Amino acid sequence: LKGFKGKQKRRKGATKTIPDHLLPKVTIVGRPNVGKSALFNRLVGGNRAIVVDEPGVTRDRLYGRSFWGDHEFVVVDTGGVLNVSKSQANVMEDLAISTTIGMDGISLLSREAAVARMPSMIEWQATAAVEEASVIIFLVDGQDVENMDKEENYVPSIAIVGRPNVGKSSILNSLLGEDRTIVSPISGTTRDAIDTEFVGPDGQKFRLIDTAGIRRRASVASSGSTTEALSVNRAFRAIRRSDVVALVIEAMACITEQDTRIAERIEKEGKGCLIVVNKWDTIPNKNQQTATYYEQDVREKMRMLDWAPIVYSTAITGQSVEKVIVAASTVEKERARRLSTAILNQVIREAIAFKPPPRTRGGKRGRVYYCTQAAIRPPTFVFFVNDAKLFPETYRRYMEKQLRSDAGFAGTPIRLLWRSRR
Ligand code: GDP
Repeated sequence: LKGFKGKQKRRKGATKTIPDHLLPKVTIVGRPNVGKSALFNRLVGGNRAIVVDEPGVTRDRLYGRSFWGDHEFVVVDTGGVLNVSKSQANVMEDLAISTTIGMDGISLLSREAAVARMPSMIEWQATAAVEEASVIIFLVDGQDVENMDKEENYVPSIAIVGRPNVGKSSILNSLLGEDRTIVSPISGTTRDAIDTEFVGPDGQKFRLIDTAGIRRRASVASSGSTTEALSVNRAFRAIRRSDVVALVIEAMACITEQDTRIAERIEKEGKGCLIVVNKWDTIPNKNQQTATYYEQDVREKMRMLDWAPIVYSTAITGQSVEKVIVAASTVEKERARRLSTAILNQVIREAIAFKPPPRTRGGKRGRVYYCTQAAIRPPTFVFFVNDAKLFPETYRRYMEKQLRSDAGFAGTPIRLLWRSRR
């Protein structure tokens, strides 16, 4: 876009024959005051902007025709239509940092990439402006992006979730009872949550997402299926707002469907996770093998969280609760870790050399041109390949396994995106 003048001369013969609605739409989104309108005006140049006022859409979008070389398209300025929240913007900016294509903080990303990266943006995606977009330009302030990379003020949120009576409040109380703790309640963003900021052992600040289910015990008086269902919904809300989830299960109890539903949600939302096996004191006759056997059982039943560390705790004595916070802190670091492109591609080259993608019946074979880490929280890797269809699910899983065994990322889901580039 560097040399883009907006009012370029249309190529000879390129007359305005294609109607607006058949052209690809390039939609500009971003936080207020990053310069969306300026970019829009620059792109559409003298082409008069059309204000569309569709039924059911209360706020307007601006449309204008533009072209780049031989390609004609419609530019859409979303103005205030898309309410990009600060946390969504942070995530978008993470993605933007590593996909920036060059000019003054302008990044291009596909809707697929944005949404795969951000399940929490599904609602956002459903808005008409994004739905109709062929390409989204997420415009960021270059200065903000620079600051983002230092991350120094990022306070990760930890949610303690699990079924009633597994010991969530006991863990929380034990955590907050420590001397180092700063107990400062922050009014939560949802009705049923009260957050608390505290400082972990290595000086890292955390925000503890508390739910009414933990703090206000009295309000969770009933038992049975209603409470269970309620607690799952609370867990889902807490997960959405968190960076790291401590999923608490009870040592002597079976892992239930509720637990696996929560586990699935954690993976789907791309959150970090540690499995806390609480009431470890209730297991009789423990020996050195006990934890190993127990781990096998948990892994068997929670395959979707096979990357999550397991911590054994006895909350009533405060024993091992420290481990919970240390593990959460490590998980958060992994979730925000960037791998250099050189190391990443070395890992991938070796993985491919060891086990090349399968050949199709027609003799075709997948080729990886290169791979880049497009985002953190969770770590997201984009594989640029000849044809994504030539990489079956089994091969994708193999690649994820290799990445994990060579580069770590314990405690965090990772995302692999496969992009065809012919
Ligand atoms: P929550 O509903 O998940 O918040 O669970 P609570 O923290 O209220 O704990 C439920 C019950 O289990 C209480 O009676 C606790 O005293 C008990 N409990 C919690 N943690 C432990 C533990 O590590 N060992 C044992 N034996 N009991 C525990």
